[in-house]
Amino acid sequence: MTRHFNFCSGPATLPTAVLERARDEMLDYQGRGLSVMEMSHRSDTFIDIAERAEADFRQLMGVPDNYSVLFMQGGATQQFACVPLNLLGAGGSGSYLDTGIWSQKALKEGRHLATASVAASAEDNGYTAAPAPRAILPASDAAYLHYCDNETIGGLQMDRVPEADLPLVCDMSSSILSKSVDVSKFGVIYAGAQKNIGPAGITVVIVRDDLLERARADTPTMLNWKAFADEGSMLNTPATYAWYLAGLVFDWLGEQGGVAAIERLNRRKAAKLYDAIDASGFYRNPIAAANRSLTNVPFVLHDASLNATFLEESEAAGLLTLKGHRSVGGMRASIYNAMPEEGVDRLVDFMGDFERRYG
Ligand code: PMP
Repeated sequence: MTRHFNFCSGPATLPTAVLERARDEMLDYQGRGLSVMEMSHRSDTFIDIAERAEADFRQLMGVPDNYSVLFMQGGATQQFACVPLNLLGAGGSGSYLDTGIWSQKALKEGRHLATASVAASAEDNGYTAAPAPRAILPASDAAYLHYCDNETIGGLQMDRVPEADLPLVCDMSSSILSKSVDVSKFGVIYAGAQKNIGPAGITVVIVRDDLLERARADTPTMLNWKAFADEGSMLNTPATYAWYLAGLVFDWLGEQGGVAAIERLNRRKAAKLYDAIDASGFYRNPIAAANRSLTNVPFVLHDASLNATFLEESEAAGLLTLKGHRSVGGMRASIYNAMPEEGVDRLVDFMGDFERRYG
């Protein structure tokens, strides 16, 4: 068996140890004679799996007791709708930072369902740097300030939590669990699972409990955070297997020393890659130093006609899915928690070798 290094932005590489454990438990979960996939979500065994996953996640993230943790479906995209529906029951508008494509998608859904406006945008600098704190001006009737911590496509990451006198709502899909976060600064944090949490199919939402009372009356039950909180995220059949696998990932992360330890490793991995790009003159990343993403590293080759060759040769070298998003082109290396440092070393070596041959 050969496992290649997979730089996909999501669904992303999972820790091999997690997949091995899932394989070992696949047909017969801990002597119960059936797979987790085949169990009632209301069985004691599954409830135990679900509760342990939540408890481990709370511990890893340091989630305070006055916050609920929800395991929903529909991806982060569904949360773009949940945010205005659950927070604008008393009227008012949504306020959004625009730092790239995912911010804009959230804003678009905010406008589709309610009133939403831009509090500050990185458009002026071509989405290469976060808006300055003093430039952030939410509308006077804003009921929340939404932002995306890490733009997965553009590779722009916020270097600080914005200051605002409003509940902060953060899309952490591609940065959750990659670095320490003070959850108490936020009203809501949400993230699709398929990068740093587990396989696709589950979406984690952290909501401060006082915000659970603000839903619009027309919020569909399946999009209502309070309904999920009241039912332990078992309003209907949840994505049981994805939830179980998320629990295995949380176990694994605990064994790695938790978020602070993985953050140190992530910083080292990212620095190696950015240093190699900056030193080359052959590769380029346009993002301001303070806002370079820890987890998604886009880069272009100085000669775009070499892109296809770069991708062919990297695949052949066991370095998978380096193609950049179709909207920006070039390359992108996603280096989430489960990407070993060896994968980054191999990529840096490959890039150096490619430059020597084609530069
Ligand atoms: N927000 C961000 C920052 C993302 O990276 C993604 C997916 N790549 C999404 C939202 C959408 O997530 P999903 O596909 O889970 O709906």
